[in-house]
Amino acid sequence: MPKIGINIATGSLQQAEMIVGIDLGTTNSLVALVHPDTRKPIVLKDQNGLALVPSILHIGKQGEITVGEAARPFLKSDPSRTLFSVKRLMGKSYKDLASSQDLFTYKIIDEGTDSLVKVQIDQQYFSPIELSSFILRELKERAEHMLKTPISKAVITVPAYFNDAQRQATRDAGKLAGLDVLRIINEPTAASLAYGLGISPEENKTIAVYDLGGGTFDVSILQISNGIFEVLSTNGDTYLGGDDIDRAIVDFWLQQVPAAKRPQKEDTAALQSYRLAAVHAKHQLTTDSNVEAIVDGHTFSLNHAQLEEIIMPLVGRTLTCCQLALDDAKLTVANIDEVVLVGGSTRMPSIKKKVSSFFGRTVHDTLDPDQVVALGAAVQADILAGNNKDFLLLDITPLSLGIETMGGLMDVLIPRNSKIPSRVARQYTTQQDGQGSMRISVYQGERDMVQDNRKLGEFNLTGIPGMPAGLPKVEVAFLINADGILTVRAREIRSGVEQQIEIKPQYGLTDQEVERLLMESITHAKDDIKKRALVEARTEGEQLLQTTEKFVTRYASLLSAEELSATAAAMQALQLAVTMEDKDLIHQRMEVLNEISRPYAERVMDQAVSTALRGQKIE
Ligand code: ADP
Ligand code: MG
Repeated sequence: MPKIGINIATGSLQQAEMIVGIDLGTTNSLVALVHPDTRKPIVLKDQNGLALVPSILHIGKQGEITVGEAARPFLKSDPSRTLFSVKRLMGKSYKDLASSQDLFTYKIIDEGTDSLVKVQIDQQYFSPIELSSFILRELKERAEHMLKTPISKAVITVPAYFNDAQRQATRDAGKLAGLDVLRIINEPTAASLAYGLGISPEENKTIAVYDLGGGTFDVSILQISNGIFEVLSTNGDTYLGGDDIDRAIVDFWLQQVPAAKRPQKEDTAALQSYRLAAVHAKHQLTTDSNVEAIVDGHTFSLNHAQLEEIIMPLVGRTLTCCQLALDDAKLTVANIDEVVLVGGSTRMPSIKKKVSSFFGRTVHDTLDPDQVVALGAAVQADILAGNNKDFLLLDITPLSLGIETMGGLMDVLIPRNSKIPSRVARQYTTQQDGQGSMRISVYQGERDMVQDNRKLGEFNLTGIPGMPAGLPKVEVAFLINADGILTVRAREIRSGVEQQIEIKPQYGLTDQEVERLLMESITHAKDDIKKRALVEARTEGEQLLQTTEKFVTRYASLLSAEELSATAAAMQALQLAVTMEDKDLIHQRMEVLNEISRPYAERVMDQAVSTALRGQKIE
């Protein structure tokens, strides 16, 4: 195990060590690092000279995992076990995805609840965190293979609009892959860093980052002052990108084919060859002015002017998003000092031209647009490694700070390496009907179970008015001031009852202890995440038992004897599973119970509604 030294004041590592930057993308992922000799950021390429690793995963019958280009053929041959766009699932609940379910060819179990999504393959359930960790592990191993040295630290990028849960999920995925995630940074921030923007502390600038990838479009307006990046606004379209351009080209060509000769919807092979020819033509038009393609026995051509015309509506939509982002930031194009292009689709000359004329200035486009995010992550990694002496490192928290939640889990409010001063608030609720108090226990550390972390203090929020479980809204706020003093405040929002404590998190903590706590979190990551998944499954299982119990007791008279006995049996089976160590079993039995109760729950609710309409009450 390599020893590391951490400077508490700066959080920087005192010993030179390879820290990689990772762009964990929806379509493609890649790794970069600052070359120790040339001091320039470079992306790592495999033996075939490829830097991009497609974010595709195949999970075989024996559990064998294939990642990247090698997994691509399975998209067609084994779609139910082949996962793509996993990034779209990160930190999402079933409810969040209800409207976009049909975009995935693999099975996302449909609970319609607030709990986090899982993907089902046979009798195994995977969280998006686990799935992303498989991609990250592959990237880590590739990097180790190419650099011939163990890699244990990384900076990982996420979209600027990612919320707390999505960022935490990305962090956990890194941990599970055996990586100490030094920092999660925004993709547009990384892209700016790659162009050297914001490196010098006296720079004050407003930057627009235009990112048109394969399936998504994002625009971010950033402000840098004193070396700190702040996101002023973001806008975009999570379903707009190069894929739409490909479809538009195919449509353009199909218009030229007599209707009778056009391939039908079912003819996926012919449609696929149209799509591939369109992608090829699109890429070629970056350098050539005219291309020809022969597809399905027809000859087609495409030139610059035609392509520009085809993509006009699409580009128009992206520019509308840019205007909305400016409006949100209360700025106009005149306030923008720099424009950075990101994403493979910005290679298209007509897109560059349109974006440049919208903002009224030349754009940064000298770096490879699908590498620029990873390159910037590498620059950030290098700064955190303390190798870049010009960069002013801000004061940051060396360890994560959080509170204990259900089942002894650590819920992180302020992740390690956050800049201080800092303020974060999150809402919690009660578990029991009429619960009048709530214990807030504050911990520091990187482990998933609070028992493995360092307890900083605790207090009781009392005087919560009696309400059914889940109704009170308790806001817990963490504030760290510039001196590193942490104030934790809990407040029940309806009644206004409030309680707080003050803590010095770093008090009595030596560098060696911080180091030990960090290393332990990596060595135990696998067990920890397993334990967390089990505790979460148990909590979900217990909640389902409680709600089913309540429902059955209340509406017993409306259920048949068979329904009652089937429910009782399924509840008993779930009750038993909750006491065991197998999270998959818990999920299976929850699904069984849901299957049994769904039909009568719907029936009873319909009945309840119609009875209510007739002016009667059921109770
Ligand atoms: P993501 O951020 O979604 O992972 P990328 O930034 O890697 O995606 O962009 C992938 C998209 O870029 C694809 O739609 C691809 O066709 C497109 N692309 C790559 N090179 C070119 C090019 N020369 N001209 C036009 N589009 C390109
Ligand atoms: Mg991208």
